[in-house]
Amino acid sequence: MIDFSLTAEQFALQKKAREFAQQYMIPYAHYYDKTGEFPLPIIRKCWESGLMNLGIPKEYGGAGLGIIDMCLVVEEMAAGCAGMTTSIYANSLGAEPILVAGTSEQKEKYLRPLTKELKFISFATSEPGMGSDVAGIQTHARKEGNHYVLNGSKFWITNAPYADTFTIFASLDPSQRHKALCAFIVDADSSGLKTGRPVEKMGHRASATSSVMLKDVNVPEENLLGSEGQGFLIAMSTFAMTRPAIAAFSTGLARAAMEFAREYVNKREAFGEKLRKFEVTQFKLAEMYMKIEASRMLYLKAAWEADTIGDSTVAASVAKAFATDAAMWVASEAVQLHGGYGYIDQYPLEKLFRDAKLYQIYEGTSEIQRLILGRHVLDGYDPAMEKIPRWGSMTPPDF
Ligand SMILES: Cc1cc2nc3c(=O)[nH]c(=O)nc-3n(C[C@H](O)[C@H](O)[C@H](O)COP(=O)(O)OP(=O)(O)OC[C@H]3O[C@@H](n4cnc5c(N)ncnc54)[C@H](O)[C@@H]3O)c2cc1C
Repeated sequence: MIDFSLTAEQFALQKKAREFAQQYMIPYAHYYDKTGEFPLPIIRKCWESGLMNLGIPKEYGGAGLGIIDMCLVVEEMAAGCAGMTTSIYANSLGAEPILVAGTSEQKEKYLRPLTKELKFISFATSEPGMGSDVAGIQTHARKEGNHYVLNGSKFWITNAPYADTFTIFASLDPSQRHKALCAFIVDADSSGLKTGRPVEKMGHRASATSSVMLKDVNVPEENLLGSEGQGFLIAMSTFAMTRPAIAAFSTGLARAAMEFAREYVNKREAFGEKLRKFEVTQFKLAEMYMKIEASRMLYLKAAWEADTIGDSTVAASVAKAFATDAAMWVASEAVQLHGGYGYIDQYPLEKLFRDAKLYQIYEGTSEIQRLILGRHVLDGYDPAMEKIPRWGSMTPPDF
């Protein structure tokens, strides 16, 4: 049986996140977007409200919620402020490699503290010279006695300046590509680890993004996740669990853009008519609504696969590619419906437009999602027709 309804607990969680977004995010979103300050008071409030680090299992002091629950929260928060939500959700991304591959000791040591006080954990694969090509990581790891020595630099790392811990991916031998990748848990106060100044960004300005420099950073061998050479698998397994949430982010942003547009066309007049009267306006809103509904279905399906099967790679790529493109389109059309007001910061549309763009870039670009899906159709997909029946016969049926 297919059931599209949420449980009572999920409804309550969704309501809590919606109220949080309306009370603590939307009223301050403009301020943080303009100043580019890190929204620490909002994040602290979120942590105190129990809306952060949702995936940490109960045995380590967390809420033990699933990816569907997390996505429902993310949709509500992203409708409030995409940048703040990126700052908040970055902890789930940073912790996921530990959830995927950590031992119980590693989970106890690094996940439990996240539930006891507000702490930040950042995920670091990307480097100045590579983002999409994870197997091309150049940061080098060398084993020396009972520890590893890391050298290299990471770029675009969300929350890096505030991180207490990093999950860092490095290679024992970059020429071996994915075969030599390793994942490490690295304390931010390790000697030789430095973070750069937050970079100025087009959108998500309420999130802090910076470089991380690693110079002879000693990492104890017990901080290796999984075994040597499993880093690529750990990174891909992480994305399979976190990409549904990027589709949920996009759905929330698109929903907010549609709702702002809906409000505006009910008020604004042109040629003696409310904008809502024009059929073209209604068609734009209809198209927005269809895309948002489809995005939500797709992220829920991907999240359901992650929760039940434990691997949502294909469904997550479908959801991410579709929902992020949808969000970009909806934000653009919502700007259009606002005319000139859509282009100035008196209304939130220009911010939503800038924020939407990042979804097509981080956690695997739109092109990378299509690469995954193209390969799936060619090599992984099980055709419904075992043998394609012959086409083109002109003989009529004789039954
Ligand atoms: C605000 C922000 C926050 C981020 N946060 C984090 C973080 O917390 N941790 C982290 O590790 N990274 C983070 N990133 C990095 C992000 O994941 C990368 O920017 C992204 O994966 C793309 O990598 P790139 O920028 O190197 O682009 P490139 O890989 O250089 O790609 C450039 C263009 O070429 C296309 N392309 C690349 N390869 C192919 C191909 N084979 N076929 C077709 N097209 C291709 C891409 O789709 C893209 O359009 C963040 C980035 C930003 C902007």
